[in-house]
Order: sequence, then C-alpha cells, then structure tokens
Amino acid sequence: MSTLLIKGGCLYPADPGASVIPDGSVLVEDGRIATAGPTAEVAPLGESARVIDARGKMILPGFVNAHWHEMFAMRLAFKGALRPPADRDDRPAFMALGGDIGQISAVFDSFRDTIGRLSPDEAAAIARYSMWTQLRSGVTTLGDVGSVNRPEAMAAAARDLGMRCVISTWASDAVCVPGEGRFRRTRDADTVLQDLEDVLRAVAADSGGLLRARPTAVYGTNMTDELGAGLADLSARYDVPFAAHVGALRNEPEAMLACYGAAPVRRFADLGLLSGRFMAVHCAFADAAERKLLVESGAHISHSPAKYGAAGESTITETRAIPELRRAGLDVSLSTDGAAMPLGGMAEAMKSAWQVYNEMYADPTELRPTDALAMATRVAARGLDWDDEIGSVEPGKQADLVLIPADDWRYLLNPRPLESFLALGGSMDVDTVIVAGRVLVEGGRATAVDEARLENDYLEALASFSVRCLGIDRDLAAATTRRQQGG
Ligand SMILES: [Zn+2]
Repeated sequence: MSTLLIKGGCLYPADPGASVIPDGSVLVEDGRIATAGPTAEVAPLGESARVIDARGKMILPGFVNAHWHEMFAMRLAFKGALRPPADRDDRPAFMALGGDIGQISAVFDSFRDTIGRLSPDEAAAIARYSMWTQLRSGVTTLGDVGSVNRPEAMAAAARDLGMRCVISTWASDAVCVPGEGRFRRTRDADTVLQDLEDVLRAVAADSGGLLRARPTAVYGTNMTDELGAGLADLSARYDVPFAAHVGALRNEPEAMLACYGAAPVRRFADLGLLSGRFMAVHCAFADAAERKLLVESGAHISHSPAKYGAAGESTITETRAIPELRRAGLDVSLSTDGAAMPLGGMAEAMKSAWQVYNEMYADPTELRPTDALAMATRVAARGLDWDDEIGSVEPGKQADLVLIPADDWRYLLNPRPLESFLALGGSMDVDTVIVAGRVLVEGGRATAVDEARLENDYLEALASFSVRCLGIDRDLAAATTRRQQGG
C-alpha cells in the first residue's frame, strides 16, 4: 500500500458543515483519503509513508471546474495574440452588450468544422498545454461543455497529465438567425449524435478512473428538436448528466420563440432534458416562468463571474437571476468558462463571487468564503454527479487536494486564511496539486511533465493550425509565436 501524509496545514475540507481545522492533516492510502482531521488525531504511520509538510499552507479539495471549453486553438485567429498592446481602440464584441445572437449562433456552429480541421498531433499538443494551465491553477477535475478540440485529444491529455475530465463534444446542427423567423439546419443531427455516442462508449470502457463523459448542447439556438431529443436519449441510456448554455444573451428568449416556438428552459423541458441532472451554464436571463421551471426541476446552475465581468457579459448585475436561484435553493457552482486567451481561474471565480454576491445584497454573510470554496469544489462535483468520489476532503473519497501557502504578509494576524486568499490571492499562489494521491504539481512546478516542452509543442501546433486552416499569415504566426517564446 502506498501512503502519503499531508501534515499540519489549515484544512478546509469543504464538507457540508463547512468545517475549518487550523492544524489539520490528511492521510492518503492508495489514492484515497483514509483520515482527515486534527493532526493529533490522524493515525500514526508506517515507515514507508511520504510526508508533505503543510505548515503555513491551506489544504483544500482540488477545484472542480464544471463549465469549461478547450479553446486554445483560437488564440491567434480570435485576435487575442495579435491585438495591439494598447487597449484604447477596443470595442464591445461577441457576448458583450447583451450579445449578438445571430453572430454567436453562426460562429458557434462554424466551430464544429474547425475542429475537424485540426490534425491529431495539433489537437493533442493544444489540449495538453491548455489543460496543463488548468491543472497548474488547482483544477483537478474539468467539465467540458463543448470544446474547439477533438474529444479523443482531451481524453489523452487528461490521462497524460493525470487529471480528471468529463469529456463532451461540440454539438450543433443548426443556426438561429433573428429576422429569418426560423432556424436553419446546418448538418444531420444523427451524425452529431453518433460522434457523441462514440465518446460516451469509449469513456465507459476506460478503466483509469480519470475520465467521464456527458452530452452537452452548445446552445439552444444551435439545437434542432431532433438533436435535443437525441441528447436526452443518450443522457438516459448512459445514465449521465447533461449541460447546456442557457440564458446568456438578452434577446435569447425572443430568438428562441421565433426560431423554435418555445422559450429556452421550456424547450429543454419539452425535450426531456430538464431535471436535477441538468446543468444550466451562464443562466443570467430567465423570466419568472423560466426560473420557476428551473427551481421545480432542481437544476444545477454553473456561474463564471471571473469571466463575465472582464468580458462585459451580462450576468448578475443586470438580472440578479443567479443569486436569486441560489436563494431559492438551487445548487450554484463556480466555473471559469472558456476563452482563447487566459481568463480567470477558479481562485478568481471564488473571489468574484464572494465580492459580487455580498455587495449585491449588502450583506457579508450572503456568500461566506467557505461557501465560495464549496461552490468551487463539492457543489460543482455534485453538478457532475461525481460527488460520491470527489469535491471534499472526507474519508473514502479520492485524494484530490490543493495546497496554497498562507504565511506571508497577506495573512498576518488573520485567523481565516481563506478570507485573505480571496482578498489578495489568486491562481498563481497554488503550490501543490494532488490527484488521486499523485503529486502532480509541487512548488508550483510540474512533477510529471516537461512544462517547457508542453509550451513549445503548443506554440508550434498553434502556428501550423492557424496558417493552414484559419488564414493567418505564415510570417506573422511565426513571429508571434517566436516572440511568445522569448526567442
Ligand atoms: Zn461556456
């Protein structure tokens, strides 16, 4: 038996009682938590145990990022890396100002063809680097809600890196153009469903314990009734939860009514997709009737406040919907969402939620630091139906852990290090990341993969894909990725 003792840190187990153990330890046996509690009570060890000294550190469960998209193939094409250094000429685009539903529906639909143009090697290199940045910032479990990458590349990357991932596919078979009055079918629903079933079947046969899969819909605007019914059928047959973007845009209900004859949540209900296993991601815009449907079904809400603020996407300040759904008793978890350029991590999502929810209600107990932690760990795991195994530091669960130093000036005299972390800390503070008892990051560095090689392979893959498939000038791509490498 292999044992690992993480000894003498401030332990936040993220258990239902939100306990805090200032001098806590965690004993790990064969990848699972054997004991977790006050250091004096954690059982003595045999000779072979490896000990990690956690004095001056917080011990947290691994972060569960249940709404994420792998999109690092788009870092040149979406003008991320090619923007001018100055920001004065920036204009609101894409999801900002309530969102342009016609543009978004069309761009989202086009991604499915983009994915098909990635070579297997490019897909693998991009997935590995993108997912590494998540692991490095403390995410031990990712929940894909559709990625601009190949599912098999993401599955391989999760295995290579040693992290968990709930894989999905980019499911779109239509676009919804306001003004046209009807959706336009772009491809055969059966093809989209077959791709998804291949993924569900492959993951069901995987015995490594790191992978799961779930059906997702990119957006209700991009889903015909045939596709929706097929997703419900697969979700039932493979006994897995379902996730979809809902209510991200101001004119979405109007467009959905015009194109499909029903408001977004109502339509998911009609297609058999609304239940306690439905994860509504984004979910800012929902009228009273739609909110009632969500509450009655016990749906799960995933909120990504660290992305929406910076991107100018409408969420709680305009609609108050998500905190009100939380008050109505729904599970609300935190996530990063996805973008081509780096976006806030789970630490930043916790920070944003802590600040914004409390300010909204002018009440510092609306969302306590330990609530933010639970939303980034245990509650998110419940949204993935994986909370029997992960999401908190409790005996019998998988040993997915994050250690964060909490002994510098930011923490002086504060008996609550998690509070100081939310005030002044961030993703870069993550020091140690453990998945199923394997120490994958230590001292902020990878233990099992070569970081420089991951980065170089990514930049090469990004340049070759952007030139070959996205029309980026060869010299510009080379110059940009070379400059990024500091060469
Ligand atoms: Zn998203």
